[in-house]
Amino acid sequence: MQPQTMDHSDHIRPLAGKVAIVTGSTSGIGLGIARALAQAGSDVVINGLGDPQEIERVRAELESGALFGRVEYNGANLMDGADARRLVEKTIADFGRVDILVNNAGIQHVSPIEDFPVEKYDAIIALNLSSAWHTTRAAFASMKAQGFGRIINVASAHGLVASPFKSAYVAAKHGVVGLTKTVALEGAEHGITCNAICPGYVWTPLVENQIDDTAKARGISRDEVIRDVLLAAQPNKRFATVEEMGALTVFLCGPGAASITGTALPVDGGWTAH
Ligand code: NAD
Repeated sequence: MQPQTMDHSDHIRPLAGKVAIVTGSTSGIGLGIARALAQAGSDVVINGLGDPQEIERVRAELESGALFGRVEYNGANLMDGADARRLVEKTIADFGRVDILVNNAGIQHVSPIEDFPVEKYDAIIALNLSSAWHTTRAAFASMKAQGFGRIINVASAHGLVASPFKSAYVAAKHGVVGLTKTVALEGAEHGITCNAICPGYVWTPLVENQIDDTAKARGISRDEVIRDVLLAAQPNKRFATVEEMGALTVFLCGPGAASITGTALPVDGGWTAH
């Protein structure tokens, strides 16, 4: 077997020729990851909810930063398993392949378990856990046939440890870590890696939206939530950035990460080192 080498152009656009899907990429971490993949040379299918004009602005901005790659939008509602599978099937039909699947879409709800709305529990499990199973199921045969695949699941520090009042989210994210390990084992002999990224707190709309609920659940102010709840867990006392999530994803998709699979990588400023 010949050793694999990289030429100069590989360093500039290490993912040129690849096709990526990033779920929930109209905002926050998913958008940061989609931008990084596009800048690394990959074609990217973005997905998520939002105002159509704003989504088109984001798509065009990503494509202009990509220079050579295509960026398309698919509005699949990932609460629905069939829609999640169709997102992958349409990408394969339109682009001829899918190399990179980033399961990122997610929502949060914060409430004591005895008051936790049942429909919120069902929605969190459907989007944060089941959608990743459906997209992976739909992509796997094609990745196996081409002998290459990179599946990145955006889990959370809450895939490794728990916090009170987040029963649905913590259950879903622990499930994502288990799914990651299983898919890694099934893909190992086929050039497919599967890893979970486990961020601590990243400043995005998802975090902003839970501050008021957390303040109410704990009976404290917004500033106290940021200082004493969110960043109290993070020894480095800073929010991680969406650019950091993008850079890690590009690394995990590149040749240097070929042997990294089945992991749940904390990106949490030391939170889960406690
Ligand atoms: P965000 O709210 O900024 O983005 C969520 C994305 O999911 C948006 O694009 C939204 O449109 C999309 N989405 C929501 N419902 C959808 C649906 N039914 N179908 C398709 N897309 C849908 O959130 P974020 O903070 O960027 O979170 C992204 C992921 O990162 C989530 O899985 C979240 O659990 C995880 N995470 C976030 C943090 C954090 O601190 N922000 C920490 C750990 C893990």
